[in-house]
Amino acid sequence: MRHRIAVVGGGPAGLTFARVLHRHGHPVTVFERDPAPDARPPGGTLDLQEGLGQLALDKAGLLADFRALSRPEGQAMRILDPDGTVLRDWRPRPDDRANPEIDRGQLRDLLLGPLGVQWGRGVTRVVPGAGGVRVHFEDGRQETFDLVIGADGAWSRTRPALSPVTPHYTGITAVETSLDDADTRHPDLARLTGDGSVAVYGVNRALVAQRNSGGHIKVYAQFRAPLDWHADLDPADADAVRASLLTLFDGWAAPVLDLLRRGTAFVHRPLHVLPVSHTWTHVPGVTLLGDAAHLMPPLGAGANLAMLEGAELAESLATGPADPDAAVRAFEERMWARAGRWARMTTAGLERLVGPDPAEALAVFDEVQPS
Ligand SMILES: Cc1cc2nc3c(=O)[nH]c(=O)nc-3n(C[C@H](O)[C@H](O)[C@H](O)COP(=O)(O)OP(=O)(O)OC[C@H]3O[C@@H](n4cnc5c(N)ncnc54)[C@H](O)[C@@H]3O)c2cc1C
Repeated sequence: MRHRIAVVGGGPAGLTFARVLHRHGHPVTVFERDPAPDARPPGGTLDLQEGLGQLALDKAGLLADFRALSRPEGQAMRILDPDGTVLRDWRPRPDDRANPEIDRGQLRDLLLGPLGVQWGRGVTRVVPGAGGVRVHFEDGRQETFDLVIGADGAWSRTRPALSPVTPHYTGITAVETSLDDADTRHPDLARLTGDGSVAVYGVNRALVAQRNSGGHIKVYAQFRAPLDWHADLDPADADAVRASLLTLFDGWAAPVLDLLRRGTAFVHRPLHVLPVSHTWTHVPGVTLLGDAAHLMPPLGAGANLAMLEGAELAESLATGPADPDAAVRAFEERMWARAGRWARMTTAGLERLVGPDPAEALAVFDEVQPS
């Protein structure tokens, strides 16, 4: 394979693609907008499923390293009523490897390994043409490749080369906060969260806390609201955001509300999605992976799919097909079919988890995790 290949975006999709190609001895250039790997907080924990994210890591030769780092006990899940009553308290068997958790930063470092990512190389535009695919950068430079993989997430700058579609707001917003050193500084909330997650479902709202490594807990308040619900709030005014959230969750049990009360900084994350079964007319020389192709509600599938897609496409290109474009075309068909199924499931799931009937949220859990 003599193709010049570029990847836009060094998230789970782009890095897995690059790592698998690298394993097969093929050169690949990764352009990442962040100026350095640790330029911003990497975000919360990810659960990687056996037939998806873990399969991708296996194709990258990294499954054993993942097993050493990941937290199988993090699969534990507790569900409470807003009044604090425990409705479900599920714990994995010690040998359960179906869905272990790993911090995003740990996963990124694992995938990065020997890869030479070009940091601080934000892409503004990707333009396919007769002489190759031209990549335009924020600093005004341009480079040409035979194949450009758009793995640049929800607000992809590669996507417009293939599709005019942009993400739309689901009507559900998440506000994220976190607790550091929880086992020492917030032992009551560390116990409430357990080894994995605790979720509390009310009418049109939910509170979820997830344990990360190192005693760090991420807390997500999720609720139905117009996109501009915080128009009167200064997002940097943590006291004001906290007070507004406490009003929204008024009447919930005190220990549950303490997850919000003790948060010191709040990040607004409105949930956007691409249409279910988003596809495009194939364009030689450009394709998309992960959230850039099929942004869906954050219910445990996005990173898994992104990684498996990256691994599968890299593998099929590396095995030296006579016609790499035909390999990309076949990959797209497979990706669209699989991502469409997951997008339908996660869209229906989000509606039921943050909806008018909290019993539906419990039903979702029982369907996924029968006791
Ligand atoms: C709260 C939350 C919890 C989640 N939990 C899970 C989970 O448990 N399991 C799961 O499978 N999924 C989960 N997801 C979904 C998952 O995070 C995403 O689906 C996944 O990160 C997608 O990977 P990606 O590589 O496609 O995109 P991203 O992770 O968004 O990575 C894109 C990369 O491209 C870079 N980039 C963007 N624009 C440019 C540009 N113009 N030029 C160059 N670089 C650029 C970005 O800086 C970034 O590094 C969760 C999502 C959220 C919000």
